Amino acid sequence: MVNTWTEMKSIQPVVSKMLVSSINKERISHAYLLHGQRGTGKKYLAILLAKSIFCKHQERAEPCNTCRDCQRIDSGNHPDFHWIEPDGASIKKEQILHLQKEFTYTGMESNRKVYIVSDAEKMTTNASNRLLKFLEEPSMDTTAILLTENSQAILPTIQSRCQLISLRPLNNKQLIEKLEQEGLTEANAKIFAAVTNDLNEALEKSKDEWFANARKIVVQLVEMLQTNPNEVLLFIHTQWMPHFKERPQAQQGLDLLLLWFKDMVYYHIDQKEQMVFSYHYDKIEKAAMHWSKKHATDNLSHIMDAKRKLEQNVHPQLVMEQLTLHFQR
Ligand SMILES: [Zn+2]
Repeated sequence: MVNTWTEMKSIQPVVSKMLVSSINKERISHAYLLHGQRGTGKKYLAILLAKSIFCKHQERAEPCNTCRDCQRIDSGNHPDFHWIEPDGASIKKEQILHLQKEFTYTGMESNRKVYIVSDAEKMTTNASNRLLKFLEEPSMDTTAILLTENSQAILPTIQSRCQLISLRPLNNKQLIEKLEQEGLTEANAKIFAAVTNDLNEALEKSKDEWFANARKIVVQLVEMLQTNPNEVLLFIHTQWMPHFKERPQAQQGLDLLLLWFKDMVYYHIDQKEQMVFSYHYDKIEKAAMHWSKKHATDNLSHIMDAKRKLEQNVHPQLVMEQLTLHFQR
């Protein structure tokens, strides 16, 4: 949860600065289109902006987060603040009509109104056209905040009415910091930041038992390749395949293997601070004795090949069998 501009600046410095400055100059647009990948903070940014607009105790744009206005925005009960999101697969015309109706009963609190359209690319054509009409009416003191992962899918006529704001994906360092703030250890934060650059996905994975087991199985495989190569095929059949059943899971297993062999390469070239599985340092050290720098590097390309084969629908078990044979060469 990000609910101050100070925190938001650590995630989206450029955009935060720009919005804070507009708030302070009382030059808030009638419509914004916030565009950015999942996990870039679109929702938090939109709520923060709404609070800055309504909070009567805001100081230099920073909302107090404790007054009635702030609290009702947080709980979704503010009469002048509306949140629209897909009802099922899409945002329907009726939802936009409903919003307009709500807004015609003005004077509930003030004339100031804010509405957010989350996943705006999911508006049906009818809904888009309805919203466009709404944006064209220069009525009231209204601010629309549209959120999307794909601004290309928004009607150009709507886009042209909005101030487009692009949110940058988090860089690796920011992501690790965020994950640590969310309670992950540094070692774990590094791993999840290596697996995805999406904050929410990283947090989900960190709580996912399947993923925790996936990590264990990968460690076991790496160890078995060194100590008990004759058992590897059996291990693939009995442990690996049942866990990495679906193709996306199989890809994930290979991604984890890739990180292991990258760590071995980092060990060899003495860039140990780059290691992802730093808490398995002794295991990586041991593995690096088994696989030379060249060998570990070759294995990286074998894993990339295996990932491509999976994409081309080669049978996952065959892919794994071939890959582990490469590892042993
Ligand atoms: Zn407040």
